[in-house]
Amino acid sequence: MENNNISILGAGLIGSLLGIYLKKRGLDVSIFEKRKDKRGQTTREEGRSINMALSDRGWKALEKVGLKNKVKDLAIPMYGRRIHDEHGHTTFIPYGKEGEAIYSISRGKFNEILIDEAEKLGVNLFFDHRCDEVNINKRQIKFSIPGWERKKISSSVIIGADGAYSSLRGSMQKQERFDFTQNYITHGYKELSIPPTADGEFAMDPNALHIWPRGKFMLIALPNPDKSFTCTLFLPFEGTKVCFEKIHDKKDVDSVFRTYFDDAYGMMPHLQEEYFQNPTSALITINCFPWVKNQCLLIGDASHAMVPFYGQGMNCGFEDCFVLDGLIDKFGTTSWDLIFEKFQKMRKPDTDAISQLALENFVEMRDAVSDPKFAIRKKIEARLHELYPKEWIPLYTMVTFSNIPYAEAYAQGKIQERIMDKVMADPLITHKWDKLDYEDIIDQVETARMV
Ligand SMILES: Cc1cc2nc3c(=O)[nH]c(=O)nc-3n(C[C@H](O)[C@H](O)[C@H](O)COP(=O)(O)OP(=O)(O)OC[C@H]3O[C@@H](n4cnc5c(N)ncnc54)[C@H](O)[C@@H]3O)c2cc1C
Repeated sequence: MENNNISILGAGLIGSLLGIYLKKRGLDVSIFEKRKDKRGQTTREEGRSINMALSDRGWKALEKVGLKNKVKDLAIPMYGRRIHDEHGHTTFIPYGKEGEAIYSISRGKFNEILIDEAEKLGVNLFFDHRCDEVNINKRQIKFSIPGWERKKISSSVIIGADGAYSSLRGSMQKQERFDFTQNYITHGYKELSIPPTADGEFAMDPNALHIWPRGKFMLIALPNPDKSFTCTLFLPFEGTKVCFEKIHDKKDVDSVFRTYFDDAYGMMPHLQEEYFQNPTSALITINCFPWVKNQCLLIGDASHAMVPFYGQGMNCGFEDCFVLDGLIDKFGTTSWDLIFEKFQKMRKPDTDAISQLALENFVEMRDAVSDPKFAIRKKIEARLHELYPKEWIPLYTMVTFSNIPYAEAYAQGKIQERIMDKVMADPLITHKWDKLDYEDIIDQVETARMV
């Protein structure tokens, strides 16, 4: 059994799902989490999103361990983006084909389900255990436990699922030949809410992700099962006309919301209190390599934290678990070094690609979606996909509604982007988009692929 004693750092979404995967193989799995066991309490997670979008890659990973139906009961389908202009008019742009949706789910409740499931299967759970350091050569972990001396344990395998500020990664960084970068973007975010109406209904269409794109900044809203919406305001920290630094008091909040988000403003009775109570948080991209040293592995945000604009951070982390499990199937549970090596080699190009796409999608969300031509562009791509389902798959569909490796989606998406830029450059495109020579567009893809 020596080789099968596994310690996972972090009982977040990825650590708990990975615990389930590994326990299902009969392995001896322990998860160490720095937070208290907050199951059953409705506390606000500091600086973290309250709800998030779950899509196909995530569902696939949940399905493999039999959790899809349980989770689906908690999730609200969002079939497209509903764009709000400054006058309160809205436009709906579908995400994919009819019936294709991303799903809004509460982070806290979802995490609880995964932890409960891990516990039920027999994973050893240790809350209030903050990993301070990992001795990678000896595979020893040092923990701080409130009211105790420090605790030290040994483990044959250590997996860091402890998020963007991973302690295992910190220990790896002290070793030679470890590459690491972290980049904060110029924007931060703050969470706000739209409560249910007086008669207990959703204040807006619950089956859409609402976006108020305003060029350099934006507001978004995702539905919750209690008929409220969680809104996220993304603003530059400083240096522009509308930025966090320039909002000092309730009057400033009112002024920004009345000017740019007036229809949302009318649905946000607690705006001022929430604005000053809720934290303003930063957004980071983490890039590092290798993810593996001496049977210690980084996974999820610990190895590839990304900005949230493609709604893929968690989905990608779940796909990590799925891929790792596939490699365990192939190589068995005695060759951890081999499995981890294969894993990082396979995953790194994909996680690099989705991190980059997430950065690029910020511009699309906050700016491009408000251009009337954006809706036309999406319609042309949808038509191409309908006519040539294999030859043209819109990038959003490849990322969100398929399991095509992210790196492949990225490369194919760039080819399609160049072709679509040319198509959209026609000044009459708004009038003639449905009469285009679609076959010719597909021929251009074929040619570009051969170059
Ligand atoms: C605003 C925002 C919106 C997002 N929206 C989406 C979305 O719509 N869809 C999507 O797919 N992704 C989304 N993401 C990304 C998603 O939140 C992350 O990718 C996901 O939470 C990563 O999970 P994780 O388990 O790797 O890390 P985390 O969720 O960070 O979990 C890490 C866990 O480790 C614990 N921990 C940390 N340090 C230690 C330590 N030293 N010792 C022990 N335990 C420790 C933490 O307490 C935590 O429980 C969003 C992110 C943000 C910021």
